[in-house]
Amino acid sequence: MEHSVLFYCVKCEQLKTMEQAGLLFRTGYYRVLYPLGCCVHCEIATRSV
Ligand SMILES: [Zn+2]
Repeated sequence: MEHSVLFYCVKCEQLKTMEQAGLLFRTGYYRVLYPLGCCVHCEIATRSV
């Protein structure tokens, strides 16, 4: 399990791979191991608003 390649999307509320990361937050981690962020899909959805 390579947790370093995963991040936690705060919109989807689930872990996703870095390949799907649209935005990563530098502050805050999910369960210490995973950086918080926003996946590409959610970022696009946010922009369209
Ligand atoms: Zn997402």
